[in-house]
Amino acid sequence: MISDDLRINDLKKVDPVFGQLSFDDHEQVIFCHDKDTGLKAIIGIHNTVLGPALGGTRMWPYQNEWEALNDVLRLSRGMTLKSAITGLNLGGGKAVIIGDSSTQKTPELMRKFGEFVHSLNGKYITAEDVGMTTEDMDIVREVTPYVTGISENKGGAGNPSPITAFGVFMGMKAAAKFKFGTDVLEDRKIFVQGVGSVGGALIEYLLDEGAKVTITDINKECLEKIAKRYHVDIFDGDFFDEQMDIYAPCALGATINDDTVYRLKTQIIAGAANNQLADENVHGRILKERGILYAPDFLINAGGIINVYAELENYGKQEIMRKTENIFNTTLEIFERSKREDITTNQAAVQIANERIETRKLENSKR
Ligand code: NAD
Repeated sequence: MISDDLRINDLKKVDPVFGQLSFDDHEQVIFCHDKDTGLKAIIGIHNTVLGPALGGTRMWPYQNEWEALNDVLRLSRGMTLKSAITGLNLGGGKAVIIGDSSTQKTPELMRKFGEFVHSLNGKYITAEDVGMTTEDMDIVREVTPYVTGISENKGGAGNPSPITAFGVFMGMKAAAKFKFGTDVLEDRKIFVQGVGSVGGALIEYLLDEGAKVTITDINKECLEKIAKRYHVDIFDGDFFDEQMDIYAPCALGATINDDTVYRLKTQIIAGAANNQLADENVHGRILKERGILYAPDFLINAGGIINVYAELENYGKQEIMRKTENIFNTTLEIFERSKREDITTNQAAVQIANERIETRKLENSKR
């Protein structure tokens, strides 16, 4: 049996929060617990220089609390970068609820979570993410105004996925322009991994433009539904050795990892999933060396946050589409900088985002 002294010494080897690999100067991390509803949540506030930290709540059956903490730290940093590079006056935050959304999510739990959000007085504003719906956000709205992504019939901007898909399409077209000299996607062989809310909407844009689309998804029902509706090929299984022009990851993160990064036979990666590079420095550099153009995920999937930002700033659909369309120009700007400075596209995007934050910090300090 381990003695108490040894156990404490072992624990001391890793600082549980500030020593986390994914800790990156986060401003505040809040652990929320409620015995009666079973709520166990973590809210990560990464940076509030540009404005309140806005980011969705993910409900997921994490294997353990370390995994949940790691996820919220990574995701909240991603939100800071996303809002900064998109030109929104928002900081970066995210929340995770530990649990299975199909069996453990109750209105009481959502209300309790909303109370925790409310206690932060608007420093963090929530929205939906994986495992959450607009209806869940409607429940959170009962106890706090610090929530976006509520139903359209309750005054919200509604489902953000179609807008996210449009932004991904814009980022993909910018990548094609940079790589092939034309943004027209006609006859390009495009693999869409994950045909859920975003992937499903994306393929409509791609087919309209005459692209040759292959889809893959672990959900067979989903695949069949899409194949019945659209002229697409279905690929069953591991596709990472297949030849393609564009790979669009629209399922979960970290699909570009030690196993896949050397196998991928594509010219462009442009998709909706968050944190596509398992290690942004290592895998970003390998992609660059292999001549694969990577469109940074946190920029090209920003349509969703542009959509919910409309609820805070009171702008309409036209402005949402205009801001999302601009992802095309920003993506090109990133590629140009990456080429000019001989850095990865991800590094270029992080630099541009951080410069905007630093400029604002300076302006704020002069006030
Ligand atoms: P979703 O749950 O509706 O769809 C995801 C799809 O991916 C599902 O059909 C699922 O079966 C499939 N999938 C899961 N694991 C897979 C695997 N290993 N291989 C193949 N398919 C797999 O989610 P969504 O809303 O479409 O979001 C897709 C991604 O985009 C997520 O990573 C999400 O975080 C990100 N994202 C979404 C939005 C948005 O507005 N919905 C905004 C920004 C980022």
